[in-house]
Amino acid sequence: MSNPCINCGRERIDGKSWEGKSGISTITYTQTICPDSECQKIVDQQTADRKAKSELLARGKIEAKLARQKLMATAGA
Ligand SMILES: [Zn+2]
Repeated sequence: MSNPCINCGRERIDGKSWEGKSGISTITYTQTICPDSECQKIVDQQTADRKAKSELLARGKIEAKLARQKLMATAGA
């Protein structure tokens, strides 16, 4: 299975692996990393940025929803 690095396009290699439980079965997860450790750092940074951004977005949505509910409660009273 081809799994190229999103940053440089090189074939990613197996990094650390760990076991996790899914119901009654144990699943082995393997994280793939770029063979170039400097490139992997960039990819890690991008992943962290993306995660932070989506968390921010999710939080913004919740806050907007709460603000709307508050507004409706005020309008309804
Ligand atoms: Zn790479």
